[in-house]
Amino acid sequence: MRTVSFTVDLEPDCPPFLSGFRGVEHGLPKLLDLLDELDLRATFFTTGEVAERYPDSIRRVVHDGHELACHGMTHRAFPSLDRATATWEIERSAEILRAFAPVTSFRAPYLQFPPAYLQLLERSGFALDSSHAVYKLAYYGDHAPTRLRRIPASVTSSVLRLPRLVRRTYLAALSSPLVLFVHPWEFVDLRHERLRLDCRFRTGEVALACVGDVLRKLKNRGERFVTMRELGAV
Ligand SMILES: [Zn+2]
Repeated sequence: MRTVSFTVDLEPDCPPFLSGFRGVEHGLPKLLDLLDELDLRATFFTTGEVAERYPDSIRRVVHDGHELACHGMTHRAFPSLDRATATWEIERSAEILRAFAPVTSFRAPYLQFPPAYLQLLERSGFALDSSHAVYKLAYYGDHAPTRLRRIPASVTSSVLRLPRLVRRTYLAALSSPLVLFVHPWEFVDLRHERLRLDCRFRTGEVALACVGDVLRKLKNRGERFVTMRELGAV
């Protein structure tokens, strides 16, 4: 039996290619309904900007029992930011999000976070960082000393939208803990947008059905679902 953490990056639509918040407005309620139906708790890595614009959505995330977590302020890539701006991104988003719930988990936009900035997270009261992914080279070269628990994502979000046989085979091969992530904009039909193929293929209702199938399958196999905070505390 594996431990599974289902996570959601709650952010503007398909950054940096689109602007707008159709995912928050239309995708998020459907995803929350699905999690409610399956009685599963997830972790929502949320930008401060989304929390400022959609406070009612954040209240529902918290009310439904999910972990609220931080995804920076404006979804800019941290490697492109100087230290003062990176500090502002972390401190400002933490301040906004912590008005809704305790926030101790962090994931950087684009899963890119310079090791030199880890101490900014420590100083802002974070306990866990999920900015790495096991399928990215940076994970294997980063041995920076830190008090943070560092738990990488297991698989990129578009894999969950692949046809059933392919995604099931892929997911079955992954080891515990299994850290999945999706974005609410994937549950909006972006198939006809001018986007990279992996951003737009099988988006909309199909994506929601795929994620529902993934979660149901894992749950029925008896895999243990936890939030990132719970995973970090093990
Ligand atoms: Zn993101």
